[in-house]
Amino acid sequence: MITVKSVEEIELMRKAGKLTHDTLILLEKAIAPGVTTKQLDELAYSYIIRNGGKPSFKGYGGFPGSICTSINEQVVHGIPGNIALKEGDIISIDVGVCYKGYHGDSARTFAVGKISAQKQKLIEVTKQSFFEGIKNIKAGSFVGDISSQVQRYVEKHGFSVVKDLVGHGIGKHLHEDPSVPNYGFAGLGPRLSEGMTIAVEPMVNVGTDKVHFSKADGWTVTTADGQPSAHYENTILILADGVEILT
Ligand code: MG
Ligand code: MG
Repeated sequence: MITVKSVEEIELMRKAGKLTHDTLILLEKAIAPGVTTKQLDELAYSYIIRNGGKPSFKGYGGFPGSICTSINEQVVHGIPGNIALKEGDIISIDVGVCYKGYHGDSARTFAVGKISAQKQKLIEVTKQSFFEGIKNIKAGSFVGDISSQVQRYVEKHGFSVVKDLVGHGIGKHLHEDPSVPNYGFAGLGPRLSEGMTIAVEPMVNVGTDKVHFSKADGWTVTTADGQPSAHYENTILILADGVEILT
């Protein structure tokens, strides 16, 4: 069931979204060669708690971190640890914040120092595919309209969209209906209405769209061919005449 949020709920989701956004800004400033993903995790945890929120991911299905940190060929769900960032890496950071019972969910891929032209292009295409995805979306649009716009833009630039992981509705729960795939056809899927809140999150690979789910740690998703991957996510609110980005 897809929930439609009340005016009061939307106000709380704006607050959750702002805290999610601000956490990512803080983390972006902290990224440098030598910094460990555990340090980033601790920074996020203390910032979120200090501002009256709770990290949505901590304990979710047993996830140990407050954020997901996925480096280079890691697509999503990387666990923070004693791994130090290196010049030339890219790191995808996914942050979820629960504020007074409502969640915000957002992800970015950042460069560590100077990165290759290919990685730079990957980050830019992934970010832009989100904005292409939400272009002209409003109440009455279909989820498939978002999906097809993301896929078309990514593939036009020679990259692939991950199919095994998708975006999602969000609100009182981190993951709600509907699923929001990054591939598909315009005019198909559930219809969006005013007051729905969804997380749109292109996961884009340089090479194959196939991914591998780690059996070793139970979480980390990597590209099957070992080539880099990037992630860009925002929580959005569907309006009568467009969308509002909450994160
Ligand atoms: Mg996320
Ligand atoms: Mg998400």
